[in-house]
Amino acid sequence: MQVINPATEQVVTTVQSLDVEETDAAIARSRKAFPGWRAVAPGDRARLMRRFAEAVDADRERLAQLEVANSGHTITNARWEARNVRDVIAYYSAAPERLIGQQIPVADGLDVTFHEPLGVVGVIVPWNFPMPIASWGFAPALAAGNCVVLKPAELTPLTAMRLAELALDAGVPDGVLQALPGKGSVIGQRLVDHAGVAKIVFTGSTEVGREIMAGCARQIKPVTLELGGKSANVVFADADLSAAAAAAPYAAFDNAGQDCCARSRVLVERRAYDPFMELFEAAVSRVVVTEPSDEKAEMGPLISAAHRERVAGFVTDDVAFRGSAPAGAGYWFPPTVLTPTDPAARVLREEIFGPVVAVVPFDDEADAIRIANDSDFGLSGSIWTRDVGKAIRVSRDIESGNLSVNSNSSVRYWTPFGGFKSSGLGRELGPDAPLAFTETKNVFFSNG
Ligand code: NDP
Repeated sequence: MQVINPATEQVVTTVQSLDVEETDAAIARSRKAFPGWRAVAPGDRARLMRRFAEAVDADRERLAQLEVANSGHTITNARWEARNVRDVIAYYSAAPERLIGQQIPVADGLDVTFHEPLGVVGVIVPWNFPMPIASWGFAPALAAGNCVVLKPAELTPLTAMRLAELALDAGVPDGVLQALPGKGSVIGQRLVDHAGVAKIVFTGSTEVGREIMAGCARQIKPVTLELGGKSANVVFADADLSAAAAAAPYAAFDNAGQDCCARSRVLVERRAYDPFMELFEAAVSRVVVTEPSDEKAEMGPLISAAHRERVAGFVTDDVAFRGSAPAGAGYWFPPTVLTPTDPAARVLREEIFGPVVAVVPFDDEADAIRIANDSDFGLSGSIWTRDVGKAIRVSRDIESGNLSVNSNSSVRYWTPFGGFKSSGLGRELGPDAPLAFTETKNVFFSNG
């Protein structure tokens, strides 16, 4: 399979796609490695994970350059992503020594609980943030004593493969973390169907997530689903409009909008609509869309020609204004702002996963909440206001897993991340994430 640079359309390298037999062999290696990894003393497992984090740190620039070439991410973003992987592994390196159970008062003896690792975990990752999303699954899973088989997206396998090499170089035993390049319908499906895989962590589209959940249901296999989004960026008239408008393009166009947390709906209180739009247009025109290896780049290309065609299908007659994008080779698409009037418009309902955002006016607090919640999704979102009480009320009423007040921040590894409604099931990240990779066992010791 050829790996294509989306900014140039040139072949970066060729990677061998694995088939079902090779997937089964990898699962068998993982199962073989599990008893040994589980038996590593907590302090030693912590030390190995810290070494893994250090190996990622030493390889940051190479990982970042791989992501620029493979995914078209801007170099600034790709460097952040490599640092994020390092930090996530380092954060969960503290977990092996803190998988603390309970001592429960019972009659006639003593009862204690243990958090036992599950076994082999399949982590299935999309192409939009190949490195961080992989680490949000594999780091807590490894920390809890599981082995991981990682399935990167077919389009973006390079950084996942490099991370598995770095784990080995750091001394993580063979078979504990493997990356298997190839098709979702082959490798991903096999991880779901294989009885030797104890849990699936899936990040991707709601459509595929639904099938994965059905596959896991057949085996009573636990599953975490991190799916699509259609997040609202709610701007009240009392907000710092300049700050809200200056930040809004990056909430929708970062990573060329290929972000599950993209605020692809901007809801603006009607009496602030005109001044906001003026500021927003100026901010959109300043977004630097260029060759992603350029240090000044703020947005690169889309991932593929097919995806660009899909994104273009959302652009209707309601264009308010657009930014710029390079011409020539590469899957470029300009930042685009729409002002649809029909609440049923596709652009307000479906995940676009490209640099297209729709702006909608609202009348008051209740109207803002109603429109924000008028979606099948509930992953992320922002609320801009100077009124603390309003910020509290609205953030409690919006049906979404992750909200940000006066900022567009989405994912922080210290806090739980995941969606309401069709945006998913379960939470990743935060201090409790390793527990999702364990079963709780209680053991009673009779004092008789
Ligand atoms: P897909 O759902 O198409 O693919 C996601 C992953 O699943 C890929 O590795 C894919 O492999 C694999 N896959 C595809 N079919 C199957 C199958 N039958 N069984 C098992 N695995 C399969 O999503 P995209 O890659 O297009 O990613 C975009 C989506 O990801 C968006 O909807 C976005 O919102 C969502 N996403 C959600 C996030 C969250 O945390 N909530 C974060 C980031 C993205 P292959 O590519 O090789 O076919």
